[in-house]
Amino acid sequence: MQDCIFCKIVSGDIPNYTVYEDSQTLAFLDIDPRTKGHTVVIPKVHAETIFDLNEEFLKALLPAVQRTTEKLETTLSPDGYNIGWNHGKAGGQAVPHLHVHIMPRWEGDGGSNMHGIVHNPGEMNVEDVAALFV
Ligand code: 5GP
Ligand code: ZN
Repeated sequence: MQDCIFCKIVSGDIPNYTVYEDSQTLAFLDIDPRTKGHTVVIPKVHAETIFDLNEEFLKALLPAVQRTTEKLETTLSPDGYNIGWNHGKAGGQAVPHLHVHIMPRWEGDGGSNMHGIVHNPGEMNVEDVAALFV
């Protein structure tokens, strides 16, 4: 996609520090890292969210996340990771090209976990929410 910053990284128009690459995915260091080695993994085709990504590239994404994390593990030896993505405006997604964040974590680094993103479960109890799926 012409105006997409991550498509420009895939095409080489914008440089990147590559951590891992294969024919369908690219993983590169985040330009504004939240932790040392903060990396994003992207499909090489434009897809704004997981709803838009075709199955071929979808199947390639998780193995790429694993291989990228393995490279971070051997290179930086962190104590843990947060791995996930911001999906849609309400989910905090800024770049409209699906990307999985891998944030290496260290004991005592002062960060939080996924549960720190939001705590606003609403009025319905879990049983009532479960009934919506039946
Ligand atoms: P989001 O908020 O969409 O989940 O995250 C977008 C991420 O992309 C941010 O962490 C931001 O720092 C990173 N980013 C934005 N533009 C660039 C860029 O041109 N190069 C790199 N390497 N990272 C970028
Ligand atoms: Zn794109």
